[in-house]
Amino acid sequence: MELEAVPVPRARLGEGARWDPSTGTLLWVDIPAGVVHRLDPADDTQETVDVGQPVGVAVPREPGGLALALRDGFAVLEEGAPVVIAPVTAAEGPGNRMNDGACDSAGRFFAGTKAEDDTPGAGNLYRLDPGRAWERVVGGVTISNGLGWSPDERLLYYVDTPAGQVDVFDYDPATGDLANRRGVAELPQPDGLTVDAEGHVWVALWGGGAVVRLRPDGGHALTVRVPATNVTSCAFGGPDLDVLYVTTAWDGEDGGELWRCRTPYTGLPAHPYRDLTP
Ligand code: CA
Repeated sequence: MELEAVPVPRARLGEGARWDPSTGTLLWVDIPAGVVHRLDPADDTQETVDVGQPVGVAVPREPGGLALALRDGFAVLEEGAPVVIAPVTAAEGPGNRMNDGACDSAGRFFAGTKAEDDTPGAGNLYRLDPGRAWERVVGGVTISNGLGWSPDERLLYYVDTPAGQVDVFDYDPATGDLANRRGVAELPQPDGLTVDAEGHVWVALWGGGAVVRLRPDGGHALTVRVPATNVTSCAFGGPDLDVLYVTTAWDGEDGGELWRCRTPYTGLPAHPYRDLTP
């Protein structure tokens, strides 16, 4: 599989690649720049929204606009400035921000936090429910990162990067509850991840210059080399969900590009945050 660079400006810390099927566009962010990019692959034009503070991920929101994991917490963006609806980092003290996240098929938005200085165990994973209630679901995380569900939603894969492994939880899609966390694959500095239609797990490797495809049991299936050292997230997009998009981070010498390649694999549709205002 041959990667090509998407002709968009270089990011400092490109992250959070996410296909938005409702618009046929790719969402991604530049975390420290506090911007959300939306790429239209029909003509490779890009729109950028400045959200005014570090942003870990942007996901589509139902009934419209975006939901965000910001430095200050979960937020919604309809027009103009973001509105924080769940100030999760205020409860953690200063120096933390939200990082990667994703939504389940019921529209629950899971996203975690980290300390800007990577203080061990200072972060948490949160669940924001459709009624805007939120709760901490995992504590003692250092760099909360990628997460994604198996096709039947009975498993939730999760990364705390410095742990050097991909974990998996049993997941109850009726309640959003997690249980029985265990490691499934050891990898150096795993970052973002996505799950494909066969239940294989694609993991971006920070410092590793690659995305790896793992079998559902964690066994190695494939390595896709990426021409950047710090590979941060990956997502399937395009009308047939067969184009792998990969974000990277600038490390002073390389990185920051958005890459893509057509694959013989198919992703799962990403779900929006279902925002039922209380
Ligand atoms: Ca990340």
